[in-house]
Amino acid sequence: MSDAPRYRFAPSPTGFFHVGGARTALYNWALALRTGGTFVLRVEDTDESRNSPEWTQGIIDALSWLGIDSKSPRFEGPYFQSQNAELHVAAALRLFDAGNAYWCDLTPDQIQARAKETGKQGYDGYSRDRGLTGGPGQVLRFRVPAGKTIVTDLVRGDVEFANDTIEDFVLLRSNGSPMFLLANVVDDIEMKITNVVRAEEHLPNTPKQQMLWEALGHAAPIWAHVPVLVNEQRKKLSKRRDKVALEQYREEGILPDAMINYLMTLGWAPAGDTEIVPWSRIVDEFRLEDVNHSPAFFDIKKLASFNGDYIRAMTLEAFIEASAPVLAASQAWPSDRFNAQVFAQAAPLVQTRVVTLSEVPAMVDFLFLADPAIDEDAWTKTMSADFAREVLTDFATSVATSEWNHDSLKAILETWTEAHGLKLGKTQAPIRVAVTGRTVGPPLFESIEILGRDETIRRLNSGIARLG
Ligand code: GLU
Repeated sequence: MSDAPRYRFAPSPTGFFHVGGARTALYNWALALRTGGTFVLRVEDTDESRNSPEWTQGIIDALSWLGIDSKSPRFEGPYFQSQNAELHVAAALRLFDAGNAYWCDLTPDQIQARAKETGKQGYDGYSRDRGLTGGPGQVLRFRVPAGKTIVTDLVRGDVEFANDTIEDFVLLRSNGSPMFLLANVVDDIEMKITNVVRAEEHLPNTPKQQMLWEALGHAAPIWAHVPVLVNEQRKKLSKRRDKVALEQYREEGILPDAMINYLMTLGWAPAGDTEIVPWSRIVDEFRLEDVNHSPAFFDIKKLASFNGDYIRAMTLEAFIEASAPVLAASQAWPSDRFNAQVFAQAAPLVQTRVVTLSEVPAMVDFLFLADPAIDEDAWTKTMSADFAREVLTDFATSVATSEWNHDSLKAILETWTEAHGLKLGKTQAPIRVAVTGRTVGPPLFESIEILGRDETIRRLNSGIARLG
């Protein structure tokens, strides 16, 4: 058991939970589950100016929504990086004692002036052999050894870095606080992490981190840097430009199972000819070695289509239950007019016609509004037919005494339509607009059946009156 892999997810709580972070978390979770390993959650909360407890809670909620269960024996944490500052500093001082780090008192301006002089970029190692012993205004820098660093990465293969392209980076700032790179490595060592699976943007940091692991006396973990997510224009998903917050998709009625399944297919596919597979199969089959190393297109339309498939695969009860919060939050009707039993009757009609749960209220609002607003374009288009008044009037008369079920209602309109040499598609339209206010929605006769006789006739009559 002791050599079971230890994965980790190490988000910084600086904003909404990004879909890219969600994918990274799921990769780590799937791997921990399959290998009988552990998923460690470490919140990297050392940037005080950008952190907030609200974002930390957002991370915990998002992970739980993604099925990353904090009560599972595979889950460990959350740990908070800010609580380990002493360990970070102690590790830095050990590096100094061993000669792997040195103090430097150059200011940024002095570094720049030297760079200009030597024609080289960045810090040139000026203080390497000056024997400074620390004190106000001094930073602690890592002494980057000569040679090269090869990062062995399960997604990228071997990536080679020439050490002379890496400057002696700072470990402790002049106020004594640890830098992110150091804190991240010390925490990983402390938490006995064996596998680091994270976003590709951290690859340039990895040779530095690998040197730190080694200088601190440990073999580097197994690395895997997963490709970035891009938008339709192949640009990296950005907070400002794109919809990246997991919370937003959740609020719009994307189901967690659909989101999980979709995120796992970005740059990877399960065996067989469908990408829609249960989580258990993903856990069995997912391998980092199979992840494509080009950027993956986060396709909102494809996510919606996955979601539609997941909605249709739900039991009716599950669909009704999943719709409940969306309906409760809907402003489409006065809340006291909502009727759960009426919704339950309409639910089978709705379930097959929506791709996200957020579309549900607009499909059923006509059932809960005293007078649904009439869409003006729909009205003009359908009521300009020369038979509009006649079909509304005759239908209202016939349904007043007919049997009340959708087959009988349909038969009435079919008979009328045939007698007038028309098509049902045409004659339904004015009725639908008079009754629901729109040209689109669930099947008409089923909708009318649920709405009930009196209300249907009332709406048909007010449509006739509106015709003038
Ligand atoms: N805290 C870093 C981030 O959110 C992650 C660093 C890592 O995974 O090593 O980008």
